[in-house]
Amino acid sequence: MPTEYLKKAPRHSRSDASETRDIVRGILDDIEARGDAAALEYAAKFDRYEGELVLSPEAIEAAAARVPEKLRRDIEFAHDNVRKFAEAQKATVADFEVEVVPGLIAGQKAIPVHAAGCYVPGGRYSHIASAIMTVTTAKVAGVRNIVACSPPRPDVGINPAIIHAAHVCGADQILAMGGVQGVAAMTFGLFGLPKANILVGPGNQFVAEAKRMLFGRVGIDMIAGPTDSLILADATADPMIVATDLVGQAEHGYNSPVWLVTDDRALAEEVMRLVPLLIDDLPEVNRDNATAAWRDYAEVILCSDREEMAATSDTYAPEHLTVQAADLDWWLGRLTCYGSLFLGEETTVAFGDKASGTNHVLPTSGAASYTGGLSVHKYMKIVTWQRATREGSRPVAEATARIARLEGMEGHARTADIRLRKYFPGETFD
Ligand code: NAD
Repeated sequence: MPTEYLKKAPRHSRSDASETRDIVRGILDDIEARGDAAALEYAAKFDRYEGELVLSPEAIEAAAARVPEKLRRDIEFAHDNVRKFAEAQKATVADFEVEVVPGLIAGQKAIPVHAAGCYVPGGRYSHIASAIMTVTTAKVAGVRNIVACSPPRPDVGINPAIIHAAHVCGADQILAMGGVQGVAAMTFGLFGLPKANILVGPGNQFVAEAKRMLFGRVGIDMIAGPTDSLILADATADPMIVATDLVGQAEHGYNSPVWLVTDDRALAEEVMRLVPLLIDDLPEVNRDNATAAWRDYAEVILCSDREEMAATSDTYAPEHLTVQAADLDWWLGRLTCYGSLFLGEETTVAFGDKASGTNHVLPTSGAASYTGGLSVHKYMKIVTWQRATREGSRPVAEATARIARLEGMEGHARTADIRLRKYFPGETFD
């Protein structure tokens, strides 16, 4: 049976890149030229906020007091899990040294960047979890200066739970500013903040474009597009759970694709019957996104067997990949392109999004074909060093001089020659 689309997306997620580019270029150039004053003007224009910018310890304490006790405990739980996972990740980055030739030792060191800027989106939803994901990983990596920024609500400020989460996870400063102006403030070191060496965190198309344009002057984690999710399900899957999981991810945005790939026609048809009912049952504020995402961007794909399902999934390289099928170990071994993988019905993407420990800042729009998501490694520079005894330097110097001369780089060759003459006087080298 060939692959069959039971539902094909009429649209594909692509922002209006050229218009966004022009807007972002203009804002960045203006802020770079005029500094704090320009950033303040954009904050007033886009977020209608003129309150405290870099939050004081009193403001942070006041925010904590406004977070219900149970939510504070949930934030601590999620923080513990993300920290534990990040610490295990950090343990995989080993410094080492190796004697490459007798007498010449080369090594590797992982050094955290000096300052990180963590963008915590806050336009449509209050992304408490994004504060936990970005700040905790920076802290575990060993970054000394961590700035978190998030858009304030008009005249109100940042959601207190975001402030509290960023503080608990280790943010050194919290900036009440969003969008391009927030990203620019962290990059250019406005309002007395340290200049970021790396910008991380998800955001809308303006935030993503600003990060893209600033890349090179600063590092970035990735360029994030609309969130996407794929579910691989066979006849053993529960159609109600599959449908609920698809709807849960479709609420991210009007252009957030969700895909179902299955080898069971009956399951596919039942899920397609259930999804519109579950969307209708959402609160109105979430319903519009999910309706548009399902109508315009969702796909249901019927395959002949699990091998074809896996191959199809690898082609999509989804940000979030869920398997609700038999023989989970086979899938774990076979699948190669995803940002984060959720194996079995007992876990789900929302667990990873909020609290299970793996990071939720993940590659979108097929980028999982070449990269994973945010990890402690993104905040660390893997650098190298070497030193040699005089004997150890000899064969390397001889080879270096010959290679450099062949390349026409006489100055390089002479840096080797001078050492050979000094360490081995009277000898001749060709
Ligand atoms: P946001 O914080 O990214 O953007 C809000 C800011 O956008 C505002 O502060 C404003 O300055 C700016 N803005 C709005 N309209 C503008 C305009 N016309 N011109 C210039 N600037 C403008 O919040 P959001 O909009 O809700 O977007 C959050 C995004 O983050 C969503 O796309 C969501 O899917 C994504 N997200 C992704 C992940 C992930 O891990 N992939 C996690 C959480 C959120």
